[in-house]
Amino acid sequence: MSQTAPLADRRNLPAPFTFDESRRRLAEAAKYLAGGVSSNFRLGVQPTPLVIDRGDGAHLIDVDGNRLIDYYLGLGPMILGHTPADVHAAVAAQLDRGVLYGGQSGVEAEAARLLCEMVPCAERMRFSSSGSEAVQAALRIARAATGRRVVVKFEGHYHGWFDNILWSTTPPPGAVGPVAGSRGQILDGGVDIDVLAWNDLAALRLRLAAGDVAMVIMEAAMCNQGGAFPDPGYLEGAREACTRHGTILVFDEVITGFRVAPGGAQQHFGVTPDLATFAKAMANGFPVSAVAGRADLLDQLAHGVMHGGTYNGQGVVMAATVATLKRLRDPATFAALNRCGARLMHGLQERFDRAGVPAVVTGFPTVFYVCMGLSKPARNWTDLQGMDRARTIRFTSALMGYGVRALERGAWFLSTEHDDDVIDRTLEAVERALAEI
Ligand code: PMP
Repeated sequence: MSQTAPLADRRNLPAPFTFDESRRRLAEAAKYLAGGVSSNFRLGVQPTPLVIDRGDGAHLIDVDGNRLIDYYLGLGPMILGHTPADVHAAVAAQLDRGVLYGGQSGVEAEAARLLCEMVPCAERMRFSSSGSEAVQAALRIARAATGRRVVVKFEGHYHGWFDNILWSTTPPPGAVGPVAGSRGQILDGGVDIDVLAWNDLAALRLRLAAGDVAMVIMEAAMCNQGGAFPDPGYLEGAREACTRHGTILVFDEVITGFRVAPGGAQQHFGVTPDLATFAKAMANGFPVSAVAGRADLLDQLAHGVMHGGTYNGQGVVMAATVATLKRLRDPATFAALNRCGARLMHGLQERFDRAGVPAVVTGFPTVFYVCMGLSKPARNWTDLQGMDRARTIRFTSALMGYGVRALERGAWFLSTEHDDDVIDRTLEAVERALAEI
């Protein structure tokens, strides 16, 4: 392929990137690793799950030698790109001091202080290792504080893979009652779960009025199964109804935390929950999560509410957390992220419109959705049923052939390494992929 030929001349050339070595290695690994992967979210993606050799800024280099612009960003965490020198230097320095103490450390207290300074709801917090675990801590804290069992969650919202919360993450249209997310899941867990349509304030108010709900958990903006913003007044209304009926309001900020603003979605929307969960962007890929919130709720953990975890607050992870949070609390970081992300969102919408392919690009500049098949932004899971998921997969699959890796469920994550040049090259690849589908 000529690197200089004008785009119009290159449209008919075959996609230059192929993935045969990834396919071969995946099949080899599957002899030992179930399905060839370590998480079901990496299973079966098109054109193939990739085997990665290394990361470099905004790029991943796979075992076929392809240098791909990466919008997976590890499914969200890598907000400073794949190889940030400052985070890696902090990690290297901490490694020399030992990895795990079974005791407290200065770097852990510093990470906790930074988080509490940045996040509006965070008077107190606890660390763990994965988003799923942080959600479990929130469930226990809320039930202990209220003495109630019932948890309200919303259709299409994802809060981790554990039995008691993996309900109705992708329910079929017209489903009545909670829908289990996996074979093998303990179905009794659904007894204490009530699933509502998100962005329906009247339904939430009605349910809470019964006075038996321990907690309401939501993604404050839907980022998992498709992008959707809260209606004006919805989060405020949910806040008010929870306070009125003695229910704990939890924002699951595992994706939005430290990604849509230094203080997460709660800062962006100006609504403060009682508890919030964090992970992903907090340590740029190192496994950390947190539950944070009102001091009286978190202080229960020192008075009979059990929360454990051998790796909680592990030193290397804490060093990565401190280095990452220091970058993210610098207003210059988000100013640059938001400018580049807005430019990319606008450029994508323009390319889809020009190609006559129906799509709505919606979300935050740092995490947004390309909702193919929709003509206006979705408000909830029912609206998101209108997404053309088969065509989205054809699009992201074609895009990989032109060197851009984006999630086939339509989500795009941005890092500080996605500069104007990377965005220009992305938009050029998008034009070619759109011409192909
Ligand atoms: N909550 C939300 C909103 C998430 O997006 C995720 C992961 N995608 C989780 C919880 C679970 O986090 P983890 O995969 O780290 O267990």
